[in-house]
Amino acid sequence: MADARYDPDNIFAKILRGEIPCHRVYEDAHTLAFMDVMPQGEGHTLVIPKAPSRGLLDADPATLAALMASVQRVGRAVKAAFEADGLTLFQFNEAAGGQTVFHLHVHVIPRREGVPLKRHEGGMADNAVLAEQAARIRTALDAQG
Ligand code: AMP
Repeated sequence: MADARYDPDNIFAKILRGEIPCHRVYEDAHTLAFMDVMPQGEGHTLVIPKAPSRGLLDADPATLAALMASVQRVGRAVKAAFEADGLTLFQFNEAAGGQTVFHLHVHVIPRREGVPLKRHEGGMADNAVLAEQAARIRTALDAQG
C-alpha cells in the first residue's frame, strides 16, 4: 500500500492552529506539549512537532531532534510533577501500528511501581483535572529552568 499523505485537518493540526483547545504544558519554536484527553495514566502528556509530519517515517531528522529534546524536557517535568518511579513513551505509526491521530506525536506517561496503564483510547478525563495536572507540569518545567 502507498504511504498516506499528511492531512492538514487532523485534530493535532487544529490544536496547533488554535482552532480547538488543549491543556498546554510546554511550547517552543518547534514543538508543543499538552495533556492527552483520554489518559492511560495520571499525567499522560503528548509532545508533537509543529512541522506537519504524519509519523516517524516522513519526519525530517531535524524535526525528530527538536521533538526528542522536548520529550526529554517534558519527561523530566512530568516525572517530577507526579513523583513517578519511571516513564513510558509510546509512538505509533499508521493504523496498523496503533496510530489514531495522523500527526506525529510521542506519548509521555509517568509510571509508578505496580500501577498498570489504562487501556489506549479509554475514557475522557475531567477537564478540571487535566487543567490542574497541566499546571503542575508547568510548575515543574519552571523549576527546571
Ligand atoms: P495514537 O494516535 O494512537 O497515538 O493516539 C492519539 C492520542 O491522542 C490518544 O491517546 C487520544 O486520547 C489523544 N487525543 C485525541 N484527541 C485529542 C485532543 N483533542 N486533545 C488531546 N489528546 C487527544
